[in-house]
Amino acid sequence: MEQKLALGIDIGGTNVKLAIVRSDGRVLVDRSIPTAPERGPEAFSRTVGAEARAMANEASVAWDSVVGAGVGMAGFLDVERGWVEEAVNLHWRDVPLADLLQSALDKPVRVDNDANVAALGEVWLGAGQNAHTALCVTLGTGVGGGIVIGGRIHRGASTMAGEIGHIMVKNDGELCNCGHRGCLETLASATALVRHAVAAGVKSPGGGELTAKEVFALAAEGDPAARAVVDDMIHWLAVGLAVVANILNPDVIVVAGGLVNAGDQLMEPLRAAFQREALARVARACRLVPAKLGDQAGVLGAARLVLQDIESL
Ligand SMILES: [Zn+2]
Repeated sequence: MEQKLALGIDIGGTNVKLAIVRSDGRVLVDRSIPTAPERGPEAFSRTVGAEARAMANEASVAWDSVVGAGVGMAGFLDVERGWVEEAVNLHWRDVPLADLLQSALDKPVRVDNDANVAALGEVWLGAGQNAHTALCVTLGTGVGGGIVIGGRIHRGASTMAGEIGHIMVKNDGELCNCGHRGCLETLASATALVRHAVAAGVKSPGGGELTAKEVFALAAEGDPAARAVVDDMIHWLAVGLAVVANILNPDVIVVAGGLVNAGDQLMEPLRAAFQREALARVARACRLVPAKLGDQAGVLGAARLVLQDIESL
């Protein structure tokens, strides 16, 4: 099969990852440059345009052979128009990003949210390979989610499908950023884990600001307060995953984010709790696995996004 090339663009608040990726998933060249969102989206797009051409040069591929670019970023997006309605972390609002990048790159551009492209990346090349129905959940500042069905992102009516962080799992729970109470995000994000640990009197062994990694390490050493907080977080995460799994009946759930580095300390009790919470036939059919691609999932999924769109034209 003839290999096509695409540019993947993963826009974070601090850095942008860029990669020229072949349609078999091989990365020919990649790099990370400062996002510098304060310069505005026009200057940002011009920088990406120049950088991407330099990367093609470095990889000795003709710019003409790159078929398009895919973008993953946090924010409220109009995927159809490639429009950024609001990206809080970049302070961008009402930006025609796909058009700007299209002129800077002279290629078709597709835009989607970071959780969706990361899910697509994991299904394409990572822990969710060959899954028919995949849910990918990312535990970070919040709890993000993406659904991939038949190899394609499932977006729903207003590109909000997969917002697993905001399913309500605990009655009268803590107030969430979204205005509701008891959202999964207030119980199972890395941020929530640290907040609950601090409230339970857990202290950083180094004397600095407590991190999620430290909470897991303390729990593994048998610290009772850290343990209780970790157990609680895993319980609520399992409840949230079970709610979604009972609707989606996925063959795989991929868990991503820094907490996955805790390995079996997270995954084993999570699997056990998920078995208890989900319907038996749902749990039996579902692999619950840690993500494989780490912070490369976004840039790979972004490349895949445009490759599959162009293949289907
Ligand atoms: Zn919420």
